[in-house]
Amino acid sequence: VSYPSIVGEMLASGFSIIGFSWICSPACTELEVVVMDWLAKFLNLPQHFLHESEGTGGGVIQGSASEAVLVAVLAAREQAVRSQQSKRPELSESEIRGKLIAYSSDQSNSCIEKAGVLAAMPVKLLPAGEDLVLRGDALEQAIERDIAAGLIPVICIATLGTTGTCAYDDIESLATVCERHGVWLHVDAAYGGAAFALEECAELRRGLDRVDSINFNLHKFMLVNFDCAAMWLRDANKVIDSFNVDRIYLKHKHEGQTQIPDFRHWQIPLGRRFRALKVWITFRTLGAEGLRAHIRKHIQLAAQFEQLVKSDERFEMVAPRALGLVCFRAKGDNEITSQLLQRL
Ligand code: PLP
Repeated sequence: VSYPSIVGEMLASGFSIIGFSWICSPACTELEVVVMDWLAKFLNLPQHFLHESEGTGGGVIQGSASEAVLVAVLAAREQAVRSQQSKRPELSESEIRGKLIAYSSDQSNSCIEKAGVLAAMPVKLLPAGEDLVLRGDALEQAIERDIAAGLIPVICIATLGTTGTCAYDDIESLATVCERHGVWLHVDAAYGGAAFALEECAELRRGLDRVDSINFNLHKFMLVNFDCAAMWLRDANKVIDSFNVDRIYLKHKHEGQTQIPDFRHWQIPLGRRFRALKVWITFRTLGAEGLRAHIRKHIQLAAQFEQLVKSDERFEMVAPRALGLVCFRAKGDNEITSQLLQRL
């Protein structure tokens, strides 16, 4: 966390805004639009994720990666139900809902499986390769098997930077399979997404132009305090259509205008905090270069720690170093590593 972010949080707390629609606090909504576009540019995300782009894409700040994933899963589910209703009118809505299925890797974060529980849609955890990376062939096999069994594939949640080893799933091959089967592709880049900001890590962004949605936590690597989870959608209308529930007391005369979204349709709660303020202050104070320097410093610290591990014959690496993560163990029985972990 950084002092600018803490100040932003204090100001937001003092203003006590509950900005569920634009009319509640135009600054709350409009600053979020601004900082989400800044952040998308900082991370070198495809143009179509920006509010300022021609299309229907855009970004929103959620409370956590778990919420962002759940929003993607729920929206994909509702889109799938609607499309199946028109394609297969012989099936009732509950029959369709009972056939829906989602996919992720056995290395994905617990929040992916939890999103499936909350959305009442099973998430199949597919085997990652020996390098702990999920690839399109594993997804293709699972989808073909499930279609043959009468199931309806809805969404694949890939991870860029897994929790265990910071492995990056192969988005290009997963996207090819998802496009073939009309499956939503979401990317959980909660931690690893920070690398997208660095030119030397450009390779890790491969395939992002083909995904439907992505989440990235500023409260992990970007000096912004919890809670602050960015989420971008290629077509925000898919989420808005799925979650739009209106009441007379929620209406205002600027509704539906571009550049002034009502973010209540993009999330689970109605009310929302002025999180954009701490992002804005952090960016304005530290600058994009300052934030990049911070990420690079952590990568360099990890490289230094890796050298310490490698030069000590009591320890060994269990996965390649990735960003700020070094996975190592004590040689010999696992009990030694367990004890070391307890002591640490
Ligand atoms: N996804 C990944 C890859 C993570 O590493 C984590 C947390 O460690 C999460 C999701 C969950 O994040 P949150 O606490 O913001 O829901």
